[in-house]
Amino acid sequence: MPATRSAPPGRADRCPGALVLHEAADGGLARIRLPGGFVDGEVLFALTVLAGSFGEHGAVELTSRGNVQLRGVPAGRRAELAERVAELGLLPSATHERVRNIVAAPFAGLTGQDPGLEEPRPEDPRPEDPRLQELVRALDQALCADPELAGLSGRFLFGLDDATGDIAALAPDAWAAPTARGRWWIGPAGVEVERAAVVPELLGAARAFLRTAADVVGAGHPVWRVRDLPDGGRELAAALRAGRPQAPRPTPGPAPARTVRPGGTSPGGAWPVGARPADAWPGGAWHGGVWQRPDGFHAAAVHVPLGQLTRPRADVLAAEAAATGEALRVTPWRSVVLPRLSGAGPDRFTVAAGRVGLVTDPGSPWTRVTTCAGRPGCASALADVRSDAARAVDAGRLIPLGAAAPPGPPTAAGPRAHWSGCARRCGQPASRHLAVVAGPAGYLVHDTGTEPKECP
Ligand code: SF4
Repeated sequence: MPATRSAPPGRADRCPGALVLHEAADGGLARIRLPGGFVDGEVLFALTVLAGSFGEHGAVELTSRGNVQLRGVPAGRRAELAERVAELGLLPSATHERVRNIVAAPFAGLTGQDPGLEEPRPEDPRPEDPRLQELVRALDQALCADPELAGLSGRFLFGLDDATGDIAALAPDAWAAPTARGRWWIGPAGVEVERAAVVPELLGAARAFLRTAADVVGAGHPVWRVRDLPDGGRELAAALRAGRPQAPRPTPGPAPARTVRPGGTSPGGAWPVGARPADAWPGGAWHGGVWQRPDGFHAAAVHVPLGQLTRPRADVLAAEAAATGEALRVTPWRSVVLPRLSGAGPDRFTVAAGRVGLVTDPGSPWTRVTTCAGRPGCASALADVRSDAARAVDAGRLIPLGAAAPPGPPTAAGPRAHWSGCARRCGQPASRHLAVVAGPAGYLVHDTGTEPKECP
């Protein structure tokens, strides 16, 4: 096992991994990639046991790319961490560990409305396994097998959408989405290809990006992603098309109709997966709850408050996953999808999840609050934003106790709030939200929709 080390200083890409840790104020921070968010329940549980052995944190954090990270790793236990992560099958390549950044649509195959990605049925054998998990696996393996692609930054993002636009909204650098014509649209090239060509196209785009980025001089900033190229990637896209006709970018389909479990825990009724209240702030709707799949089984998406997956929470998820044998799917929205609930039924699962603080109620304020690391993890933090946000949510608020909410448009979903320990506002959503920012004199709250826009 290669030795662990700290992330390099300066302007180099400093995204941490399991071997290259970030030096946070509370110790080493290790990030472990879960391509597509897929992970076995018992592996996720084992990670929480490992996190608990490092001290007071005791939780695995879910990241905004569907990965996980562990905080407070002592200097003397980093080799042990790497060994344990490798034993769990989460470190297939020491050279590529930080570039295995693949986000995939977590509800693929569970809605009945994403042709080409549905779960295979025993009575309906197909010439190839159509599941998105197989596509993720093929992309990950091919990525790790290409020495050149170890040179990507830890920020370069691959995406596999399911025609809902959920993953496209994350603006991946190289991504694919199924089209209504049974083919796949490839970005940034803007062409349509057969499914078998998806992986070669995405890796070809990544290689072309690396070579283009190497030729950039005087950009004035690091070129880690396609959008960092001086022209935003337009020339790269044209070169990747290489004379092929440009295909229209797929537009997200209508919100899938879904059968929601009767008697759901939300007083207002659970939102069907994929539903977007018409007046929700863009990107502000959380997908979640318990619902019935077209084949009659139940599935669930549980929100993990502030992305803190503790050992008891992982235990509940792992037990349910073990009963069905299906991998869990960690989403980029601090939630976990269980593709199938066990025969014990959705009510039993909902109660068990609620006991450990997992949220199955889409109406919960927890689904609309995010924070940065804050104290004690970040040396720049002026406040322990997680504890403060938790106190506010316990009081039924999204913003600090005593703070007045700025005027904003009334929405069915309500606003969402992001708490930051300083003015850098790390991890803030791209969509409109209430920014709760710690300052020397306390928190300031403002609506990001009222911020001045930069001139083009
Ligand atoms: S917003 Fe400030 S306090 Fe929060 S993680 Fe970023 S630098 Fe640290």
